[in-house]
Amino acid sequence: MKIANQQVYLPLLSKKRIELAIKREDLIHPFVSGNKFRKLTYNLIEAKNRKVDTLLTFGGAYSNHIAATAFAAKANGFKSIGVVRGDELEDNWENNPTLCFAHEQGMRFYFISRELYRARSNASFLKGLQEKFGAFYLIPEGGTNPLAVKGCEEILSDGDRRFQVICCAVGTGGTLSGIINAADTRQHILGFPALKGDFLKEDIRKFVHRTNWELQTGYHFGGYAKVDESLINFINDFKKRTQIPLDPVYTGKMLFGILDLVKKDFFLPDTKILAIHTGGLQGIAGMNPVLKKKNLPQLDL
Ligand SMILES: *Cc1c(COP(=O)(O)O)cnc(C)c1O
Repeated sequence: MKIANQQVYLPLLSKKRIELAIKREDLIHPFVSGNKFRKLTYNLIEAKNRKVDTLLTFGGAYSNHIAATAFAAKANGFKSIGVVRGDELEDNWENNPTLCFAHEQGMRFYFISRELYRARSNASFLKGLQEKFGAFYLIPEGGTNPLAVKGCEEILSDGDRRFQVICCAVGTGGTLSGIINAADTRQHILGFPALKGDFLKEDIRKFVHRTNWELQTGYHFGGYAKVDESLINFINDFKKRTQIPLDPVYTGKMLFGILDLVKKDFFLPDTKILAIHTGGLQGIAGMNPVLKKKNLPQLDL
């Protein structure tokens, strides 16, 4: 599946003679993040080959990956179990749009404390899950494993070789790894982490053997799912000008970063940039009540 690029026109870009196009992977599905779809593709094939009928995965309450796994499981005839961080959600998940969507897809939830969640990759915890739920195909939090990276290698197409720079939002780094592997070695790949932490580079090096990439670590806005007024206003303004919706957790921070770097003359004039819109728009519905509580402006739907 090859997705078209959309040209972005903004006064800042013409002033700095920068070409910016966005690959609209968000259009793959209205609720399922484009990159999560890609990450699941080969994992679903592997689960079928192993003749397992249940997918089990982990995530937070607003996780794009939980939503995507629930949807893909249903569409491909699997049962799904979501191990969700936060046992306080047990009696409260119906107020959460992401979990409601996952539930509608038939996902069964297992809510666990944050403490237990941190131990989720321990052998003893996994063994307990097997005793509780029977055989399952395990997909890690965020969906990243070698098969997921392979799926993300299909995001770029031959026509994308005309760009000198390719930008992508980073959570676990699986999507960026696929982009790096599939890009031309003459292209420069920029990752924009949506969270704080120095572990990402090492994680990415497990999947890639090239060096034509770097992380722009100055645009996480305080950490995962943290936002401020300038980011919300940027996302609303970007949508007004370009008709392209961005999500507040990943793609909004990446685009904010790209345009900030353009402003600061990080890119030479006549650079052609491709930004990957990985999706994440299902998260807006869950974010708006959080913004309201914090007296921040709402994201336009
Ligand atoms: C999960 C997600 C990412 C991050 O992908 P990783 O492969 O974990 O780095 C980026 N954008 C969106 C919209 C996502 O849902």
